[in-house]
Amino acid sequence: MRYISTRGQAPVLNFEQAMLTGLARDGGLYLPETIPQMDDIAALESLPYEQAALRVIRPFLGDSFTEAELVQALDAAYRGFGHAARAPLRQLAPGHHLLELFHGPTLAFKDFAMQLIGQLFQIALQRSGQRITIVGATSGDTGSAAIEAFRGLPNVDVFILFPHGRVSEVQRRQMTTPADANVHALAMDGHFDDCQARLKDLFNDHDFRDRVGLAGVNSINWARVLAQVVYYFTAAVSLGAPHRAVDFSVPTGNFGDVLAGLVAKRMGLPVGQLVVATNQNDILHRALTTGDYRVGQVEPSISPSMDIQVSSNFERALFWAYDGDAGAIRQLMADLKTGGFSISQGALQALREDFVSGRLSEDETLEAIRRFRDETGEILCPHSAIGAAVATRHLRPGVPMVTLATAHPAKFPDAVERAIGIRPALPPHMAGLFDLPERQTRIENDAAALKSLILERRTA
Ligand SMILES: *Cc1c(COP(=O)(O)O)cnc(C)c1O
Repeated sequence: MRYISTRGQAPVLNFEQAMLTGLARDGGLYLPETIPQMDDIAALESLPYEQAALRVIRPFLGDSFTEAELVQALDAAYRGFGHAARAPLRQLAPGHHLLELFHGPTLAFKDFAMQLIGQLFQIALQRSGQRITIVGATSGDTGSAAIEAFRGLPNVDVFILFPHGRVSEVQRRQMTTPADANVHALAMDGHFDDCQARLKDLFNDHDFRDRVGLAGVNSINWARVLAQVVYYFTAAVSLGAPHRAVDFSVPTGNFGDVLAGLVAKRMGLPVGQLVVATNQNDILHRALTTGDYRVGQVEPSISPSMDIQVSSNFERALFWAYDGDAGAIRQLMADLKTGGFSISQGALQALREDFVSGRLSEDETLEAIRRFRDETGEILCPHSAIGAAVATRHLRPGVPMVTLATAHPAKFPDAVERAIGIRPALPPHMAGLFDLPERQTRIENDAAALKSLILERRTA
């Protein structure tokens, strides 16, 4: 399996190389040259999650990993989940289902991908003897998921930059309480955008990049998208696919999770509409409605994991909508540097064949949490509530709708309490979170300071 960059000017890689690299050297995103077709989708029915995952993921790996290695990685990745089904479905209303993706160790869907790539990285590094340094920027959920996946692994250090004072207490404690020597939680002065900008500085310093073996695990990593394709299959099959179509509604920020739904569709799963659900940071909703992709100011919200203006993985959907024209993508991304671009009529039409969209304001989000609690007894996290509320606008008779519940409500207790006056409790396995000692390093918003800290703290 060959992986190519959306901008067409980076080396062609195999799966393992694309996974370890993250971002392509030309600034683009890696995609498989062709999407394998899934045969015998019906056979996935009632398989354990890990076995369904094996069938969905295997064709993308080429000879990067053996089947035995993948089996071992999947077992280790999902063993610690708090639910035997891993991604259980629950009914919200007639024809509307909730896919619970928050039973992993850090209570957000990010665990599905991060736990798996933690295992795959480990296998690859043991084979090569290579040492790497993972540096990630987070607004909360990616950082804790990455720390949980890479803590204690030999050959790996993991540095996570988060904006000081701007993550929830649960999110912070998940990053600062792991005692492993290879985990480094860095509280940086500034916003999430500053953290991301310093991260890009590190990747653009090619000497530093090579010296510490810098690796990226943010949501543009193809291996993360691939891991998320699996639960579209398991959910659709339990609702009657491949014999009927199924719609999905996805709370969306960086477009990684919903893109996985498009990949499932391109593999042959009968996915009807993919509903892109956004908060007030609605660049994707505006783009799909008007054809104009224009960057505004990030407005902090009660669904912080979707507070994003530049939605990185959208580039992959554009690449397909433009029929793989890397030159056109390079032009769009150059225009983005000066504020935005217009999507061509043909490409917009192609996108609209797969995606519909909607947005919720802050008040509407609180109202949605209240309404689903009243009507179903379910307490949804603010992100999931946005997904479910936008989904109800797009229900179609005879086509089941699945809303992805991306986080556990206890991760966002303040928002939930504002909506319904109840503070959701953490699940039992996390009850000790507030008693453990915290360990973090405060750091200024400065690339040179960051580099020397990394060189000094590395355990390798
Ligand atoms: C990351 C995240 C999202 C957004 O997912 P994308 O793949 O970036 O679109 C939504 N909800 C929660 C809880 C998240 O952590």
